[in-house]
Amino acid sequence: MSSQATPVDSAPSTTIERPGHLSPSGASTYEQCAKRWRWRYVEHLADPPGEAALVGSFAHRVLELLMQSDSADRTTQRARDIAKQEWPAVEADPDFMALELDSDGARGFRWKAWNAVAKLWKLEPPADVEVRSTEQNVKAVLAGVPFRGIVDRLDVQTDGLVVTDYKSGNAPAERYRSKRLPQVLLYAAAIAESTGEQPVRARLFFLGEKHLEVSADVTPASLDRVTESLAGTWDSIERSCADDDFPTKTGPLCGWCPYLDMCDDGQGEVIRRHGSLPGNR
Ligand code: SF4
Repeated sequence: MSSQATPVDSAPSTTIERPGHLSPSGASTYEQCAKRWRWRYVEHLADPPGEAALVGSFAHRVLELLMQSDSADRTTQRARDIAKQEWPAVEADPDFMALELDSDGARGFRWKAWNAVAKLWKLEPPADVEVRSTEQNVKAVLAGVPFRGIVDRLDVQTDGLVVTDYKSGNAPAERYRSKRLPQVLLYAAAIAESTGEQPVRARLFFLGEKHLEVSADVTPASLDRVTESLAGTWDSIERSCADDDFPTKTGPLCGWCPYLDMCDDGQGEVIRRHGSLPGNR
């Protein structure tokens, strides 16, 4: 008698295989628009960073190297020296080259990055920070979800560990600030889960012209809230994959979606809001 598995006793097959882990950006992309998530995380279509994201990456790199320096060396001059040292790598990056900036554009790019770096001194004296790690990869299972992320900075303060994440843009209006905190609270949850040491605070440093620190105490209730929400997103992704059902969700971000050219719903939304598509404005 054949020992082959029958359809009845084989594992249920899904139309699309769910990725093996979830990051904060993956979760927020899915919540923003399931169709965009499918194109990005299932079909792996290119999602090239725009100028703002590349400026942010450059500023992050300068701050990372600055905060790895001896505390007494964390001066604005040292940050300028790091920026000069790192600039050739930025210029050689294919994503940067794709921006096709002329010399004035490249100078403006450097200024935007420098303005973000310089805001750090408005938010804290870098020489006083006790840094535990920078750009730390974290992996943990949170509420059943295989979670991954990269923590910009983990500091040691008098009352415990503090998670810090840089945002190179402006601080959002007050009513939207708490909505930005789940990312850093998830990092705190992952650090607690993977090391047994629970951070006491999680904070965002907005480094744009409207610079601001936004922080939250890390409590069991705040960690439960963000991990349960993450699990809800993970379950929704599983259902979408099982049914190959990824509806579009149109909104103001359609104008910046890398897949706008292939999305009729998004194009309709952009025309409704702006009267024409980006290339025609
Ligand atoms: S254009 Fe808008 S609706 Fe279409 S995939 Fe992008 S975000 Fe979703």
